[in-house]
Amino acid sequence: MTAAAAAQKQTCGFQAEVGQVLHLVTHSLYSNREIFLRELISNASDALDKLRFLAVSEPSYLENDTELGIHIEIDKDAKTLILRDNGIGMDRDEIIAHLGTIAKSGTKEFLKVLSAQQSKESLLIGQFGVGFYSSFIVADTVTVRSRKAGLAAEAGVEWQSTGESDFSVETITKATRGTEVILHLKEDAAEFLDSWRIKSLIHKYSDHISFPIWMQKEEMPQADEEKDENVSDAVVFETVNRAQALWTLPKSKITDQEYIEFYKHISHDFSDPLAWAHNKVEGKLEYSSLLYIPKNPPFDLYQRETSKGLKLYVKRVFIMDDAEQLLPMYLRFVKGVIDSNDLPLNVSRELLQNNAVIESLRSATTRRILDTLEKMSKEEADKYAEFWKAFGPALKEGIAEDFANKDKIAALLRFETTHSAGKADVSLADYIARMKDKQDKIYYVTADSAAAARHSPQLEIFKQKDIEVLLLSDRVDEWLVVHLSEFEGKSLQSIAKGMLDLDTFANEEEKKAHEQIVAELKPLAEAVKEALGDAVKEVRISHRLTDSPACVVADDNDLGGHVQRLLKAAGQAMPESKPILELNPNHPIVKRLDLDKGTEQFKQWSQILLSQAILADGAPLVDPALFVNQLNDLWKDLLAAH
Ligand code: ADP
Repeated sequence: MTAAAAAQKQTCGFQAEVGQVLHLVTHSLYSNREIFLRELISNASDALDKLRFLAVSEPSYLENDTELGIHIEIDKDAKTLILRDNGIGMDRDEIIAHLGTIAKSGTKEFLKVLSAQQSKESLLIGQFGVGFYSSFIVADTVTVRSRKAGLAAEAGVEWQSTGESDFSVETITKATRGTEVILHLKEDAAEFLDSWRIKSLIHKYSDHISFPIWMQKEEMPQADEEKDENVSDAVVFETVNRAQALWTLPKSKITDQEYIEFYKHISHDFSDPLAWAHNKVEGKLEYSSLLYIPKNPPFDLYQRETSKGLKLYVKRVFIMDDAEQLLPMYLRFVKGVIDSNDLPLNVSRELLQNNAVIESLRSATTRRILDTLEKMSKEEADKYAEFWKAFGPALKEGIAEDFANKDKIAALLRFETTHSAGKADVSLADYIARMKDKQDKIYYVTADSAAAARHSPQLEIFKQKDIEVLLLSDRVDEWLVVHLSEFEGKSLQSIAKGMLDLDTFANEEEKKAHEQIVAELKPLAEAVKEALGDAVKEVRISHRLTDSPACVVADDNDLGGHVQRLLKAAGQAMPESKPILELNPNHPIVKRLDLDKGTEQFKQWSQILLSQAILADGAPLVDPALFVNQLNDLWKDLLAAH
């Protein structure tokens, strides 16, 4: 076989992930199978958008085929449904890459979780966006014929597959530009050969597509004798959809259902959005924006390559997907469209950087989203709780990223606290409203989980005095508290750092008593420091503890234990800061230790106390075996004494 012949027809295996997606799609989306039409129309519309953009600078791409749109045809005899667009098309390499692999990062991990759950849950796979592969829910064979804009008719390509393990590609001659998807429908999918059914699906899902969708006009049944023999049977097409860009219509002309379907088209999400904001702005800047807040996070929200940004249009012409300059990173979950009248049509990604119009659009959209969230938080608390659960950690990043809107974002934060019942539903304003008389700080504790935070020994005095503490356990929380030093004039204070401000916690009498005991136990603190040597920075008598004998805290200017561990896990080098050991003067163990100063066991007991305090703080011990041995020795001594 010659090389040219080899290039003619080849069979390729699907990438393993595609095989998995195909399996999941055909098994989990069966009850919702009509969505294949929406997905294919959506792809055709994207291809038309791209062609129109190219044609702005290079009109020859239009060839003589200037009326952009989508034809849908039904062949009842062949049992096929055909979607034909005159969009940008694909060449041979592109068709192999686009319809044989999945480029999204994190796909493998996501699919693993999905199949482990043996999910029949269409929403989960919907979060992933199955697109073209949904064809195989209704078709047992799919043929795609395509020719890329600008290439010769002989450079067409035909792709075919039964959706199992492989597909074939073959070079063909295709006179028209664009892509034709031919679905050979399964026996039980004959309903999609009914043109009324297809038309009603187009109304339901794709009315808002800005290009016309044409279908053959149904002829009224006529009596035989009335038929005029001289009129030829020319096929008449009609436009089935509204064919106007949704965001250009006045709000009053758009139903909720249309907003929802448009969201599904641009986001590839199967769930309804949580909220949307549609605005038309005239004045210094002229633009329309239609912004959506989804209900569920995409599977890759916390991966670097997650798609982010909005679809950018200029004067109705699609310019690009994922225009990340239009939104700050922390709002990467927002989906939508911006259509500007102020940008040139030939705007490129590079041009978007440092562009004054883009800067203004970005701050306006940011503001609009934050306002939408604020309104939701005030008027629809349940909905806001749902939002917070899905996107709270992303929004928290905004405190560090968006200085201009810091206060607005801070007001949107929700926390789990010692006073909330296992849910993150306390705002900083709620917290301040509940602050105790002399309290002037917002207290928080950070840990790996809310449960660990809830049980930290440093919390004891706060529990006793019924002072509320924020329980922070998202990874981003350590950065949050670095950048959010205060809210409405109240500073944020870690309960595991520095000295406690006694004024908040004790009356005059208690303060005096504490000072006295600190003085009395000074020799004990010194002896423990000597026994522990360099392992601690300082040993002091604590006011924080009511139940535990000891705890570790950090100095005001040092990083807390939790953030140190996070940095270490991220491979960051940092100066090692030693903990401060605090002893509970009222605890029997500490009292006994005081009596045993100078004895043989004193050093060992001091070490056990420190190890315990480190463990309770959620940190690993340097020498866990030594700790276990020391504890067992102590146990043996106790048993021997009985
Ligand atoms: P998605 O649309 O989410 O990227 P799909 O699996 O639906 O995923 O499609 C994969 C890719 O195949 C698209 O991104 C596009 O590049 C290409 N494609 C699909 N349908 C068409 C079409 N009708 N015309 C041109 N390209 C298409």
